[in-house]
Amino acid sequence: MTCEISIIIPALDEEENIDLVFSRIKDTMDKACITFELIFIDDGSTDKTLEKIKGLAANNTNIRYTSFSRNFGHEAASSCGFKMVNGKAAVLIDADLQDPPEVIPQLYKKWKEGYDVVYGRRSRRWNETILKKLSSYLFYRVLRIFTSVPIPLDVGDFRLVDHKVVSLFNALPERNRFVRGMFSWIGFKQTAIEYERSARNKGKTKYSYFKLALLSIDALVSFSLVPLRVCIAFGLIITVLSFCITIVIALQRLVWDLNIPGYALMTSGMFFLGGVQLIFLGVLGEYIGKIYKQVQGRPLFVVGESSDGPAASSTTNSITTVD
Ligand code: UDP
Ligand code: MG
Repeated sequence: MTCEISIIIPALDEEENIDLVFSRIKDTMDKACITFELIFIDDGSTDKTLEKIKGLAANNTNIRYTSFSRNFGHEAASSCGFKMVNGKAAVLIDADLQDPPEVIPQLYKKWKEGYDVVYGRRSRRWNETILKKLSSYLFYRVLRIFTSVPIPLDVGDFRLVDHKVVSLFNALPERNRFVRGMFSWIGFKQTAIEYERSARNKGKTKYSYFKLALLSIDALVSFSLVPLRVCIAFGLIITVLSFCITIVIALQRLVWDLNIPGYALMTSGMFFLGGVQLIFLGVLGEYIGKIYKQVQGRPLFVVGESSDGPAASSTTNSITTVD
């Protein structure tokens, strides 16, 4: 191992942030006397992000990078970063400086105290819309109700992970990678450091509400079977209810000699059940889709180029992404 900390930075169209994120990390780490390497993952940027990274790598021997052939998403980029780790621990941090690099020495200190995973908990979020804060607040709480894995509340991907845990993470074979959940699943000694999440330095967020909603479904499906069980429970309740209604209707007709027309009940019941069935088919479909992707076995990402040379990129290319 060449250094203490490998810092992984996934970046998609972050040309305006690359230089600053590097200098802030370098200043912080030099001041704290922690040896480090930077691993940039260019997730198919269409701006000058890769050129910027290459420029830095040409002048700094502790900078490595991999560039994807197209955009594969933050989860794939961080998975690639963890595969490249050489240090005794790894830190995953965003390129837009929302996670302040100045917090890394605090994470490092906790790691030195014997914790295997030290994650940053957002005590405050600057400059984010109320809708984003609210949806994020709800997401973590719903996820907590739905899964038995103790995924901490209000914690993003910003964290320090011991090398032992990194190796275990790299060995997990799943294609649907909800990174923060996977680290919770692995376990070991984990603790939190509170920090204030800053506003994005430059550029725009890469996550629309729609993309966030899809990611939330991915997270839920990969960490919980509860949605399937909700279908069973709902089906059972409706079956018992309709059985009771049938008995009442039979009594009305045969015993009380009443003949009440039931069009309204029939039509609303039909549409209601039609809707519920479609939703449940969707829930089933989500799980089947995930199984399909897993069975297909495509690599998580395709490497366009890498500072580790053509040999490294060709092995990463050929399905060894998650072996
Ligand atoms: N990112 C990435 N691939 C993507 C989307 C985002 O590598 O498909 C990177 C992005 O460059 C940034 C980090 O992931 O470094 C977090 O993204 P962003 O700041 O857009 O998300 P937000 O903080 O708004 O949730
Ligand atoms: Mg951000």
